Amino acid sequence: MKLAQDISLLPFNTFGIQAQAEYYREVTTVDELRDVLRLRKQPVFVLGGGSNVLFTGDMKGLVIRNAIEGTVVTRRFKNKVWVKAGGGTVWHDFVQWAVSSGLGGVENLSLIPGTVGAAPVQNIGAYGVELKDVFVGLYALELETGKLRYFNKIDCQFGYRDSFFKREGKGKYCIVSVVFSLTQHRHRINISYGDIRKVLDAAGIRTPAIGDISRAVIQIRSSKLPDPAKIGNCGSFFKNPEVERAVLERIKAAYPTVPHFDVPDKNRVKIPAGWLIEQCGWKGKRVGNTGCYEKQALVLVNYGGATGVEVRHLAFEIIDSVECRFGVRLEPEVSIL
Ligand SMILES: Cc1cc2nc3c(=O)[nH]c(=O)nc-3n(C[C@H](O)[C@H](O)[C@H](O)COP(=O)(O)OP(=O)(O)OC[C@H]3O[C@@H](n4cnc5c(N)ncnc54)[C@H](O)[C@@H]3O)c2cc1C
Repeated sequence: MKLAQDISLLPFNTFGIQAQAEYYREVTTVDELRDVLRLRKQPVFVLGGGSNVLFTGDMKGLVIRNAIEGTVVTRRFKNKVWVKAGGGTVWHDFVQWAVSSGLGGVENLSLIPGTVGAAPVQNIGAYGVELKDVFVGLYALELETGKLRYFNKIDCQFGYRDSFFKREGKGKYCIVSVVFSLTQHRHRINISYGDIRKVLDAAGIRTPAIGDISRAVIQIRSSKLPDPAKIGNCGSFFKNPEVERAVLERIKAAYPTVPHFDVPDKNRVKIPAGWLIEQCGWKGKRVGNTGCYEKQALVLVNYGGATGVEVRHLAFEIIDSVECRFGVRLEPEVSIL
């Protein structure tokens, strides 16, 4: 069992940040993962597609890139099937596989970068659907002991861009496979969020199939978000903050048109972080090699050659300026390492 040494992580993160891994290994099976862990190189960091991480320095110890792939149907019910996908499977490939197999549930999550194994970590979500809506359970290897553990939905403690694996379980497990429950017929069509309905209407589609929704989402995302292959980024850098209704009322007094969404807790609302950032004048602003994307203030970009420290510095300048103006402290969605 050999480890690569002093490997550049530049090709393995969508921000396009240069950082070195002291030791590096890609694993394609659970046994290989166990063997690598037996080498006891510490600390261990599990990397997927690198689309939600910001490296602010070199990575000491071992970086394991999860490349455990494979998708199989494990159970069939009347209208549902359970599908188990390897943690290293590319998320969008999994979505395309589901859509082309006629299985519904993940079409709204088309084109989200990254891997299946990372999807539960922050309970990925887009266009009115979250991973937890189709989630059955996952298998994760405990890095310390090499033991395989099953986590059901309750164990995962999913929240908005949050789970057990971002809190108590952070850095302790490698998610090796995820089990999803997808529909075979009578799909739960969800087109009320964002511009999906508008795009479908423009194409003259009245009763969309899951493939139509997936194509609409791909079209919308491609027009709004920067392609990491062309301009380094991690998608939304910040979470949309949830605040007390009283905070919203205070903001409303100065900004009567402040956008907001209801959340299950009736005393609270969510305010789009992008709107708050835009009001502070950051949208489209460039600072050195980094900046705030011109079409979406929530996205920080690397114009080329930016360091992780530069991006982090900009992120905290934004956080401070939003807090100063609105009294709302933004929280990064991206893992800053
Ligand atoms: C252009 C763009 C658009 C995006 N849009 C969205 C969006 O709409 N919705 C959304 O929710 N996210 C979005 N993201 C963020 C990102 O795609 C997701 O968070 C994705 O799930 C990250 O997957 P990854 O494999 O790249 O994880 P990585 O970036 O490699 O890792 C992220 C974190 O998860 C941990 N991790 C990774 N794999 C495993 C594993 N197998 N086991 C345990 N821990 C693991 C890592 O240690 C790290 O802490 C976007 C990103 C980009 C670049």
